[in-house]
Amino acid sequence: MVEESVILELVKNKPDGISNDDIKEAIPDAKIEDIAVAINKCLKTGSLELFQNKGKLLYKFKDISQKTAAKGSDNEEKVVFRIIEEAGNKGIWIRDIRFKSNLNMTQLNKVLKSLETKKYIKAVKSVSASKKKVYMLYDLEPDSTVTGGAWYQDQDFESEFVDVLSQQCLRFLTEKAEEARKQGGGPLLARNKSYATAIDVHKFISDLGISKVSLSINDIESILYTVVLDNNAERTVSGDGYLYRAINRFLDPIGLVKTTCGVCPIASRCADTGLINPKVCEYLTEWLEES
Ligand code: SF4
Repeated sequence: MVEESVILELVKNKPDGISNDDIKEAIPDAKIEDIAVAINKCLKTGSLELFQNKGKLLYKFKDISQKTAAKGSDNEEKVVFRIIEEAGNKGIWIRDIRFKSNLNMTQLNKVLKSLETKKYIKAVKSVSASKKKVYMLYDLEPDSTVTGGAWYQDQDFESEFVDVLSQQCLRFLTEKAEEARKQGGGPLLARNKSYATAIDVHKFISDLGISKVSLSINDIESILYTVVLDNNAERTVSGDGYLYRAINRFLDPIGLVKTTCGVCPIASRCADTGLINPKVCEYLTEWLEES
């Protein structure tokens, strides 16, 4: 893993811009995928900007804290702007802004409206609650905890997109397993050759071009995990990550495994008392209603 602060430090030292090759050279031990993930995060938060110079793509540091609400803003606007700026790309809820700024609701609404009109801030709908909006600086790309990540579009879960992705991930694993079988050399060799990493699958999905949003390796890991939970693949720990391979299902899963509890990742924390319990579990209720 490469920290964003490492990338930003390198970029700050090159005010005229730094290329991908320069970054790789400065941190030779880091994997290219990890560097790409860190750069993407910096681009999303707006702390890096990309430009072209003599046909070469370069990154430049962009100090987002330099943007101020000073010009034409009164003190109340400056206070609210600072509070929102501190919240970063996770944003802040209006109730918390009111609490921190000590402004009453009418004043605060007026200030927020004014800052929004000047395009200093924006309101973003949060996937965690349908009526909840959070405020953040206008240039920031909302964090995936706010937008729900690649699987949400305007707060709606893109179930069809997720289905297509999991089918394609399984297709890749199945084709890899078949290819390994055809090559011969015995069952053990075929089994070892049929394993794939999330990076292999990520490359396959990117080459297919079926996703409009850019997917990270972690997004692909989550999809692959659903394929494993559907009992179509198995995953095994390897070094710092996982390897995946398609498996043949000879028998249908037994009834218990088909229930939500049979595949629930937090089943070990579920009890008849406490916050996680079957009486309040919406997944179990939904499953019982459908059955
Ligand atoms: S009741 Fe809900 S939380 Fe508990 S094990 Fe079943 S699915 Fe998981």
